[in-house]
Amino acid sequence: MIPGAFAYHRPASVQDAIGLLAQFGDDGRALAGGHSLIPMMKLRLATPANLVDLAGIAELKGIRADGGDIVIGAMTTQHELIGSDLLGSKIPLLRETSLVIADPQVRYLGTLGGNVANGDPGNDMPAVMMCLGATYQLAGKGGERRVAAREFYQGAYFTSLEPGEILTAVRIPAPPAGHGYAYEKLKRKVGDFATAAAAVVLTVSGGKVATCSIGLTNVAETPLWAEEAAKILTGSSLDTATVKAAVAAAEAITAPATDARGPARYRTKMAGVMLERALARAKSRAA
Ligand SMILES: Cc1cc2nc3c(=O)[nH]c(=O)nc-3n(C[C@H](O)[C@H](O)[C@H](O)COP(=O)(O)OP(=O)(O)OC[C@H]3O[C@@H](n4cnc5c(N)ncnc54)[C@H](O)[C@@H]3O)c2cc1C
Repeated sequence: MIPGAFAYHRPASVQDAIGLLAQFGDDGRALAGGHSLIPMMKLRLATPANLVDLAGIAELKGIRADGGDIVIGAMTTQHELIGSDLLGSKIPLLRETSLVIADPQVRYLGTLGGNVANGDPGNDMPAVMMCLGATYQLAGKGGERRVAAREFYQGAYFTSLEPGEILTAVRIPAPPAGHGYAYEKLKRKVGDFATAAAAVVLTVSGGKVATCSIGLTNVAETPLWAEEAAKILTGSSLDTATVKAAVAAAEAITAPATDARGPARYRTKMAGVMLERALARAKSRAA
C-alpha cells in the first residue's frame, strides 16, 4: 500500500506541463485529482518516476459557454460540476451523473479530465460524453488537436492520447432547451463503480422522439455509444415494442467481463434495464 519513489513537479502552465512530460517520456505521468492514479500507484500497478501535477495550472479550470458549446476545463472537479448553475440549466445530465460518482470526498478532488482521460471502462463520464457528442481538446509537443469522445476510447486504459499529451478541456454542444435526459446506474452500494449504467439524451416533438443518443458504462472494455438502439427509437413514441427492440440492440453491443459485479449475461441484462429506465425518465423530463 506504499507507492514507489517518485519526484513531484508542479508546473504553472500547460506549456510547462507538456515540456516536463516530453522530457520524462515513459517515466512521467500527469496527476489530476489522484483518485484513480494514486490507488494504482499504491498497488504498484503504476510506478511513474515523475508526477506532473496539473493542479497549479489556472487555465485548466472553469466552466464557460462558448457559442452553443459548453467548455469545461480538465481540472474542474466533479464537485464543481454539481454546483455549476450554467451546467444545471444547460446540461443537467452532468450534475445527475456526478452525483452518482463515488462519494463527496472523491468528488472534491476527482476531476472531469482525469475521469475521461483515465480509460477505465468503470468511469461514468466517458459514456455520458459519448452520449452528448462531446469533443476532447488535447495539447502536446506537436500542438493542439480535438478528438471526439466517440472515437477516443480504444480499449481498457487505452485511449487516443499520445505519449506526453494532456487533455486540456471537454467541449460539449449544449442539447436543445426542453431536452429529456437521464443517467441510470446500477451499483452494489453507494460509492461503487457501475455494474451497468445508461445515459440518454432525447428530444420529443409531437409525441415522437425527434433525436436520441445513448451511452453505456462498464459493459465492455470501452464505454459504448449505442447508435443503432437510438436509431430504432427515433420517430417512435417510445412504445413498448420499440423500446424492447432498442434495448435488444443495445444489449447486443455489450461484452462485459464476468467479475465481482456479476456474470457477463447478468451485466448485459442490467444494461438493458438501465436503458429502459433512463428512456422512461428522459421522456418524462422532455418538454
Ligand atoms: C473509492 C472510489 C470510488 C470511485 N468511484 C467512482 C465511480 O463510481 N465512478 C467513476 O467514474 N469514478 C469513480 N472513482 C474514480 C474517480 O472518479 C477519479 O477521480 C477519476 O477516475 C480520475 O480523476 P482524477 O482527477 O482523480 O485523475 P487521476 O487519478 O489524477 O488520473 C487518472 C489518470 O488520468 C490521467 N490524467 C488525469 N488528468 C489528465 C489530463 N488532464 N490529461 C491527460 N491525462 C490525465 C493520469 O495520468 C492518470 O493516468 C472512484 C475513486 C475512488 C477512490
